[in-house]
Amino acid sequence: MTLLPSPPETEIKPAVGNPQNREVLALEARSRAWGDVAALSPEAIRAVLHNLEVHQIQLEAQNEELRRTQTQLAAAQERYFDLYDLAPVGYITLSEAGLILDANLAAAALLGMHRDDMIRQPLTRHISSEHRPLFSLYHSRLFASGSPVVSELRMVDKDESPCWILLTETLRHDGAGVPLCSAVLTDISELKQSQAELLASNRQLKEATQLATQFSAEAESCNAAKSEFLAKMSHEIRTPMSGVIGMITLLLDTELSPEQREYAEAVRSSGSAMLGLINNILDLSRIEANKLELESLDFALSTLLEDITSILAKHAHDKGLDLRCTTDLDVPALLRGDAGRLRQILTNLGGNAIKFTSAGEVRISVSLVAMSEQDVLLRFTVRDTGPGIPATQLGLLFDMFTQSDASVCRRFGGSGLGLAISKQLAELMGGQIGVSSAEGKGAEFWFTASLGKTCSGPLPPVVDSCAMAREALKLPSGRDLRILVAEDDATSRKVALGLLRKLGLLADAVGNGAEVLTATAAVAYDLVLMDVEMPVMDGLETTRRIRSPESVAAYRDVPIVAMTAHAMSDDRDRCMAAGMNDFITKPVSPEALAATVSKWLLSGVPAN
Ligand code: ADP
Repeated sequence: MTLLPSPPETEIKPAVGNPQNREVLALEARSRAWGDVAALSPEAIRAVLHNLEVHQIQLEAQNEELRRTQTQLAAAQERYFDLYDLAPVGYITLSEAGLILDANLAAAALLGMHRDDMIRQPLTRHISSEHRPLFSLYHSRLFASGSPVVSELRMVDKDESPCWILLTETLRHDGAGVPLCSAVLTDISELKQSQAELLASNRQLKEATQLATQFSAEAESCNAAKSEFLAKMSHEIRTPMSGVIGMITLLLDTELSPEQREYAEAVRSSGSAMLGLINNILDLSRIEANKLELESLDFALSTLLEDITSILAKHAHDKGLDLRCTTDLDVPALLRGDAGRLRQILTNLGGNAIKFTSAGEVRISVSLVAMSEQDVLLRFTVRDTGPGIPATQLGLLFDMFTQSDASVCRRFGGSGLGLAISKQLAELMGGQIGVSSAEGKGAEFWFTASLGKTCSGPLPPVVDSCAMAREALKLPSGRDLRILVAEDDATSRKVALGLLRKLGLLADAVGNGAEVLTATAAVAYDLVLMDVEMPVMDGLETTRRIRSPESVAAYRDVPIVAMTAHAMSDDRDRCMAAGMNDFITKPVSPEALAATVSKWLLSGVPAN
């Protein structure tokens, strides 16, 4: 075969697009058609052959490219099927009628089927009967609207064990334009399980909350019942205690042999201790019921501290203890607050210090913590050289009924209520309470209290109430002052009459409200001391009748002072609401009786 020389300069370009080649190709075609190859010039034939060669090279290259693409396509398809099968979520293709056209392995596993067994089966076969209508609805909506639909379905696998799937359906078309549904199946059984558990615990929580509300309502009513019980008990105990303490007070004012005096003093001291306990319990129930109100009155701190030291001095002296009280110079002398409650905390802390210390000293000190224009925060400290308190007990001391050692109760008595009440009182005064102590090293109790500063003039001198009451009798009123005591309890009546007579006052007694009405109509009394609970007619009703516009004008305004063993603030309010003027609690101390009686006698007597 003769090789045709290639055309010298002509650059042979690919046939397509090159005008010269196009011409050659046309010529070729023409030559083939006509079979007139011989008519071609040798140059044209060379060009034709060259073109054919180039064309072949190009075809081979294209073939190679095609093969590569096919291999890549096959690899991609394989990868796609791998992904399709190995995907952790299930994929299925559904026909419009809901038949499964293909499924990946995850979908088959999800429905507990072999993949081949699923093909051309309706999906509804795997959906629990109650959810089939839901699937049909969503599936037809997909084909109607073309928008994806999502549904949560309960499925039943081959073993009839239920599971939950999230079915996300989207519309696509196959090569022939037939609409199909591509669906993703996500196993949400665990999610559903957690949801169910959450719902169950929510339900339980709701039930528990209802129970708690019920318990708290019950607790509240128990608390109310407790407060009522305490008030009742306090009344019941106060009435005989009133008799005991009152009669002993009168007895101690009579001629007694030293032995008799000693016994009588012992009775009075035990009575006072019992009264202290009743007062503590009452205080606690008042605090718990949010009924403890603090007074806000001017007082001189030095007077209060002198008062407290004089109460404690005797016990300290009896035990040979050195009792000292110091106040820093920057502490204001005049304050505004509840001096009675301050005294209560300090006598409790001081009393404990003396009770538990057998040798050494007890120091009470007052220092300034902070001062504003209107208020001061003071720190009161009571330090002793007693046995101290074990570290394990320190945190419990301010709890109710806590004593650092059970033997303490036997050795020293006490109820373990004092510190709990002191804590509540300190907090009510905007302060805190605390203790630092170590066994064998004494104890230091402290509390802070926020008090008002006052720059009022000199405080009224401390008056002797009994003397003041006696003064009232000496007023040139031109007649004797007369008091009516209304009291059904014979002993309490005797005590009241005895105390009033000691004050130099004339006093009569009646046993119930009806008798009060008769007595006041007959005699112009200057004051009525009225028990609240009495048979026939109680003190409240009697007072209302006296104060009513229909009653006799002459005695309608007579001062009425409640004298009752009911010591809660509610009781005072009830008395005041009924029309009484004042309120003293049993057991009535001579000082309290004198102060109250003289207040009303002095204000009520015409100064002629
Ligand atoms: P009470 O003294 O009536 O038992 P408190 O509440 O006042 O009740 O005191 C509780 C307990 O704290 C006491 O029983 C005692 O164990 C302990 N305590 C209080 N003050 C002191 C103190 N100064 N030294 C040692 N122990 C104390």
